[in-house]
Amino acid sequence: MTALLLRTFLPSPLTCRTPPPPTPTPPLIRGPRFGELTTSARVRLTRTNATAPTKPRTLQEGIAELYDESSGIWEEIWGDHMHHGFYDPDSSVSLSASDHRAAQIRMIDQALSFAGISEDLANKRVVDVGCGIGGSSRYLATKYGAQCEGITLSPVQAERANALAASPGLADKVSFQVADALDQPFPDGQFDLVWSMESGEHMPDKAKFVNELVRVAAPGGTIIVVTWCHRDLAPSEESLQPWEKNLLSRICDAYYLPEWCSTADYVKLLKSHSVQEVKRADWSQYVAPFWPAVIRSALTWKGLTSLLRSGLKTIKGALVMPLMIEGFQKGVIKLAIITCRKLD
Ligand code: SAH
Repeated sequence: MTALLLRTFLPSPLTCRTPPPPTPTPPLIRGPRFGELTTSARVRLTRTNATAPTKPRTLQEGIAELYDESSGIWEEIWGDHMHHGFYDPDSSVSLSASDHRAAQIRMIDQALSFAGISEDLANKRVVDVGCGIGGSSRYLATKYGAQCEGITLSPVQAERANALAASPGLADKVSFQVADALDQPFPDGQFDLVWSMESGEHMPDKAKFVNELVRVAAPGGTIIVVTWCHRDLAPSEESLQPWEKNLLSRICDAYYLPEWCSTADYVKLLKSHSVQEVKRADWSQYVAPFWPAVIRSALTWKGLTSLLRSGLKTIKGALVMPLMIEGFQKGVIKLAIITCRKLD
């Protein structure tokens, strides 16, 4: 996920104000689809828009609006990348802004390395699913020579991503458009690398999401998903504990997030397809400095003025940031990486 003070002040995770988490019972693999908000979500979205007397928004519209509003502020404070940084577990707390930006880049390199990809992306085709303002794509094109196509629900992000790519040598290597990850505008088997960096947490239908990731991957292509998950359930458990559900529910409420699933759920979904070498890891320990840094950045003069300019939704999101830290510390929230290769 990373949505906005969330994603505004919170990198990727927060970006969302999502539909209130449906009451989780069994593992959450399939939540409501776009346009299928739960009653409570509909009520919430309607209430949120009280000053704009339009029809109730779908989750898809809510996510798009959230990013339309918050991406500029996020870019101003945090730069190109709307995802967690990958830190040395022994990192000191006094990291500089450039240290945090370097950590966000390190997250990309670590994800590639985990998936067994080294320097061999020259002219390989990459789809950046949930691309934000295109930070990953520009990096993959510039450093590794990849040819990238990004999709996002936010028209503002797509426009900004294309503007940032309008430079000699880059414009012909990356492009961005508004499209739904659950119904991607690409033919089957198109991409050597399918990249989803902290967008999966926004997907209301995890099975359809995984299905699309596998569908657009070329035979032998690699799929990399870095996403927010809840902890795996023990064999004796049928669901999270009530206090855990409550914590996630408060986060979802602030960020337009649908129901979460576990890393094990992703592995199960991927293994139901023709893929091999499914690997997973819990990177929570490597991202620990991130949320405290986002909170600190929100408490600077620049952060506070941006926050005030951004409006109540962003402020509400900011207030929930400590819950992300609590969720990680208590082991309910995991920053997971799951990778695999589509069969040749
Ligand atoms: N991967 C980027 C941005 C992460 S923020 C980065 O690391 O910087 C989450 C992104 O997911 C946003 O761009 C949002 O528009 C996108 N997103 C969420 N749901 C989506 C969907 N159903 N289809 C396409 N993009 C989606």
